[in-house]
Amino acid sequence: MIDLSYLKGKTLAVFGLARSGMATVEALLAGGATVLAWDDNEANRIKAEEQGATLSELSTIDWTDVSSLVLSPGVPLTHPEPHPVASAAQNAGVEVIGDIELLARADPNTPIIGITGTNGKSTTTALVAHILEEAGKRVQVGGNLGTPVLSFDRLGGKGVYVLELSSYQLDLMHETPIHTAIFLNIAPDHLDRHGDLDGYIKAKKRIFNGIVEGGTALIGLDDETCQGLWQELGQQRYYKVIPFSGRFPAHGGIYAMNGMLVDDTNHRRQTLADLKMIISLTGTHNHQNAAASFGATLSVGVKPATIIAAMKTFPGLAHRQEVVSIVDGVTYINDSKATNAEATARALSSYDNIYWIAGGLAKEGGISTLNGELNSVRHAYLIGEAATDFAKTLHDKIDHTIAGDLETALNLAQKEAISAEGNSVVLLSPACASFDQYPNFEARGDAFKALVSSLPGKRGGIQ
Ligand code: ADP
Repeated sequence: MIDLSYLKGKTLAVFGLARSGMATVEALLAGGATVLAWDDNEANRIKAEEQGATLSELSTIDWTDVSSLVLSPGVPLTHPEPHPVASAAQNAGVEVIGDIELLARADPNTPIIGITGTNGKSTTTALVAHILEEAGKRVQVGGNLGTPVLSFDRLGGKGVYVLELSSYQLDLMHETPIHTAIFLNIAPDHLDRHGDLDGYIKAKKRIFNGIVEGGTALIGLDDETCQGLWQELGQQRYYKVIPFSGRFPAHGGIYAMNGMLVDDTNHRRQTLADLKMIISLTGTHNHQNAAASFGATLSVGVKPATIIAAMKTFPGLAHRQEVVSIVDGVTYINDSKATNAEATARALSSYDNIYWIAGGLAKEGGISTLNGELNSVRHAYLIGEAATDFAKTLHDKIDHTIAGDLETALNLAQKEAISAEGNSVVLLSPACASFDQYPNFEARGDAFKALVSSLPGKRGGIQ
């Protein structure tokens, strides 16, 4: 746990008591602070009280003695409208921060690598952490993914914090010093919480505010918004700005072209590796993640050869183009984490002969942006609430069936994929949230994996 004794004797309010909120309560109490806590969920409140927090409905309190409000990133700070507790604190002149700010204040000497973007954050965070660990560095990894940051072991200058940062978390960061920032990409997502695309981009751009002197900003060039951001950022006086791409040469940066990873940061165009040989990094989007991870780990002193060796042993993450099984020559891929069309576009461009399972709770715009990505799709099986709308979008473009649920879709896909020529892939890449049929994307992916494991047939090895 992070030592927060620098806050001993202070009073802080914590609103939102899920995983990171509860870890904040625990760390603050252990550090000797007084904690006023609230959550709309009674079970969470009871847990916090058992830990020693004082329950207090924060929207009506006197803020005079409260030094900070620590807000859970799940609570709206600005859109669709500020939560009354956030407004009350702000009106009283009390700072509204997140747990990451507390981590940085408690351990200012340990470099932070912060990773943001619409898609690829978790993969890149895991890859960066994997490379650093393989290079023998001490690493604590978490944030938006995995362990709440205040449950980390304190590194005290000996190691690196690798943090996945959502736009909500960035909204709550004010002075957090970042050694290396990775900005992967921008596609419309979470617009309800940021008002519009501009609001969303503005929140994400906050990652650059905290870059320390001598630090590094890595910025992806694979979408137009980020290209614009790169130009806007220009060359900075105090920190390096390095572009990266998974698709084309990024001069002065790091890039992969046709899968060949190249380091041009010294303008020497050194070819480093063929990423096509690394199954956990399939597709140009993963090449983008690899280029960014190369830059980030290089920025904290890891040698290129060590980085490449570590990439080769990266196991990949569950639910992101995860190869589940090969049955009767058909490869089954679980990409349940593709909850928007942009993420699905990446999966569709990664394979030939795709039997595609899509649908769930659609995001704004549905799958209309995928029209140019359907060349490899042999048939689509549509599930969930979005099925009828998706069928309308696809009606004169590709063969499709409204299957309704995952099991029906998988059985239909299996039959057609087995009888097809060539290397067929049955791909669950929903381009939708899961909440109409499953509690979360993990449950949806697990259901797919369980169904695949009970398919009859001869199983082959996964290379
Ligand atoms: P995040 O944490 O940002 O949601 P993940 O690493 O969990 O990202 O990947 C989410 C989905 O996005 C997966 O379906 C994956 O295939 C796809 N994806 C991964 N990296 C990228 C990228 N760089 N660009 C676009 N899509 C990506």
